Amino acid sequence: MGCEEPTPRKVPRVETKYRRIVSAIPVPESLPALERLRRCEPRSMGGQPPILWDRAEGVRVFDRWGNCWLDFSSGVLVTNAGHAHPKISKAIQDQVKRGLVHNYCFPSELRSEVVEQLARVAPEGLKKVFLLTTGSEAVECAIKLARTWGRQHGPPEKIGIVSYHNAFHGRTLGAQMAGGIAALKSWIVNLDKDMVQVPFPDGFRGPDTSFEGFLKALEEQNVTPNRVAGVLTETYQGGNSSFAPPEYVQELRRWCDEHGVLLIFDEVQAGFGRTGTYWGFEHYGVVPDLVCCGKGISSGLPVAAVIGRPEVMDLYPPGSMTSTHTGNPICLAAVLANLQIIEEEKLVENAARMGEVLQPEVRRVGGRFPEHVGAVHGKGLVASLHMVKPGGIEPDAELAKRVVWRCIEKGLMLFAPVGYAGASVKIAPPLVIDEEPLREGIAVIEEAVEEIVRF
Ligand code: PMP
Repeated sequence: MGCEEPTPRKVPRVETKYRRIVSAIPVPESLPALERLRRCEPRSMGGQPPILWDRAEGVRVFDRWGNCWLDFSSGVLVTNAGHAHPKISKAIQDQVKRGLVHNYCFPSELRSEVVEQLARVAPEGLKKVFLLTTGSEAVECAIKLARTWGRQHGPPEKIGIVSYHNAFHGRTLGAQMAGGIAALKSWIVNLDKDMVQVPFPDGFRGPDTSFEGFLKALEEQNVTPNRVAGVLTETYQGGNSSFAPPEYVQELRRWCDEHGVLLIFDEVQAGFGRTGTYWGFEHYGVVPDLVCCGKGISSGLPVAAVIGRPEVMDLYPPGSMTSTHTGNPICLAAVLANLQIIEEEKLVENAARMGEVLQPEVRRVGGRFPEHVGAVHGKGLVASLHMVKPGGIEPDAELAKRVVWRCIEKGLMLFAPVGYAGASVKIAPPLVIDEEPLREGIAVIEEAVEEIVRF
């Protein structure tokens, strides 16, 4: 089955409380719009299953032709409160009606409330919040702050940024240099020699999970601590839903403290309840110096933030660390409503509880197909099945694609595979999901893998 194949394929009809597939996939009537996208957008925007969204609600996504998918994507880990939560929709509409749709040089009461709320939900000590628009920007900002901090508190060469193999931090220059995926950096001619990567201790692609591995990797690259300003890591590596051992991160925290290095967690995916704790780094029992936020902060509108220690956040004088769309009021109305919903509806607790269903179940599914599923990683409501070729751990991107496309045909929404060599099937439903649809979605994945590997 060619995954990019736009030819509609007849598929069995599906009708449950959460899923409905009544047409060929892709829907023949959707082809003109899909063709327009292919013609007018860069090729880089393609590669996803051929669905044309019309509307979404809670854990379901609808097209215009009577199909409905149970959503295991949250867009791309964005809609933590579910799609189009009524309180978020109302907050956005109310803000539009009030007639304030921009505030930058001149702030608003709303902006003051949002930064206060974000500081409130952040751990002790992280009390300043800088609002931005995208996750990549938040990462760029953290890199800039760390370097500036390093130079102020150490020798001029204390500018190094240490990050991790296979990491993804966004698509802008600094974020891609800090990323750990070589293919994404091929366009960068002058790679910054003070941005280095070390293996991520996930116990699978990075088998050495000891902190000595970190020290050894730095030594091999001739990086001494006095040259390091910051260590940047995704709290869990997004593509593969992989966590580091808590002991490793605790030792890393100690090492950073000892050498005056800032510890930066990229929580763009992990924050706001995704892993069953409010912040992903709570699993490690440490507090970073800077946190990059995005995605789930608003459940849909473009907002990001850097939250950090005041002495770091205040490095720049007035007017020199800003952005035009800082704290756009419509986006902030969504943030405020989203933060309230996370608490009122106990979404963190729900993610933890549902994680107790998802994690063992998805590991059981992986365990049924050991020749094809090399590992299953994740916590709370995020998980990845690492698809491999039989007999080893070579990634099998084609198999991962076929699983995702088959799930789409069965009414389960997953985005195209991500992670190491594009071979991970990623599961990330909205945090409002209940046990019934969660189990139904896992059963669909199991069925899809079984059909593909058995026949
Ligand atoms: N960091 C992480 C961990 C991410 O997953 C992403 C987006 N996938 C980014 C940063 C970049 O965010 P954005 O696409 O909003 O720039």
